[in-house]
Amino acid sequence: MIPRVNIPRFFHKALRQPFYALRVGWKRLEAYRCFIRGSGPAPAPESVTLFLTHRCNLRCRMCGQWGESGVTKHVLPAELKEELTPEVMDDLIEQFKIFKPNVTLFGGEPLLYGKIIPLIRKLKAAGLHLLMITNGSLLSQYAPELAGSGIDEINLSLDGDEELHDRIREHPGLFRKIAEGVESIQRLKRESGKKKPLVNLQCTINQWNYRQLERLAAVAKALDADSLTFHHLIYLSEGVYRKQEEVFYDDFGCDSPGWKGFLFSPGIDPAVLIPKIREVKRRVRGIPVDFYPAFGDKEITEYYTNPDFRSRSYSAHCLSPWTCGYVFSDGSVKPCLNLPYVFGNIREERFLEIWNGEKAGNFRRRLKERKNYPACFRCTEFYRY
Ligand code: SF4
Repeated sequence: MIPRVNIPRFFHKALRQPFYALRVGWKRLEAYRCFIRGSGPAPAPESVTLFLTHRCNLRCRMCGQWGESGVTKHVLPAELKEELTPEVMDDLIEQFKIFKPNVTLFGGEPLLYGKIIPLIRKLKAAGLHLLMITNGSLLSQYAPELAGSGIDEINLSLDGDEELHDRIREHPGLFRKIAEGVESIQRLKRESGKKKPLVNLQCTINQWNYRQLERLAAVAKALDADSLTFHHLIYLSEGVYRKQEEVFYDDFGCDSPGWKGFLFSPGIDPAVLIPKIREVKRRVRGIPVDFYPAFGDKEITEYYTNPDFRSRSYSAHCLSPWTCGYVFSDGSVKPCLNLPYVFGNIREERFLEIWNGEKAGNFRRRLKERKNYPACFRCTEFYRY
């Protein structure tokens, strides 16, 4: 449900957003009960991620979508432009009012979605908890509207301080723009006496920044961020990718192209990373700092050196398809971000009918039997439950 090693992280969240945490806890319990019964249905999801657009204005090299081995680069131009219309979104929001999922706005870059601010306002007017994941490049442009929109959380990707971030993202001036955006939002919050939106810095540990993670901790303090999370790098070996393709194809007759974007070697020396993590934990005060997944030292070593890594501190099965739904820019509903199996399309059916339709039930039954697919051990969702 909530793995023991994730409890400190959950506790930090609960302190800042107690009602949200309570709801999440309750929904997880319901999902877990359905999972145990195991015949395919699931309760209405705890969260829905709206993948608003494929488009992104950056080309970060480690990105699974637009990076060096990114899969979106091979998507046809017509498909790239596809976005759900405001009418379809309005209808979906009406459906959300019934079961009140926590909504995450994601992409591509969600701030490139045409009607993003009206969409945020409508989702908040429907009483939903709302989080946006952004590269931050357009934050300063949208800061006043975002600060006044009621959005609950903004998760912002940062790789390090100004020098490091701009070098890794190969985009001079990017860090300054992001910092200006964060500073505006935090100032507007102070002036209006509001606590939200929370600005959470998210850093993916990679070969270019892992020796200097402390630099980001200093940035988090300087920007007065509300939290800082370091994510272990998602990557896949050729061997695991091949196994994933084989097993998934056997079960569902489709490939796993989404995972192809993560085919690279990490280039991270755990003997350097482990003491660096300790140093960051020791030095940062006054702001919640997490490393996710919360692996111990042995697991970190294995994660970065053994392609067939298996965690011992987390459960071996994934609960995500019982708790999280993903709606894509063409209207398709899928169980996971990187798997192509489609439950249905919201342009044709209502969300909850799709969520507990035949294809969704089939997927859950098969996943429960198998516990996981080969690539699941590199999926961030796997370590949430
Ligand atoms: S762990 Fe596997 S089943 Fe679960 S969300 Fe990730 S890819 Fe999907």
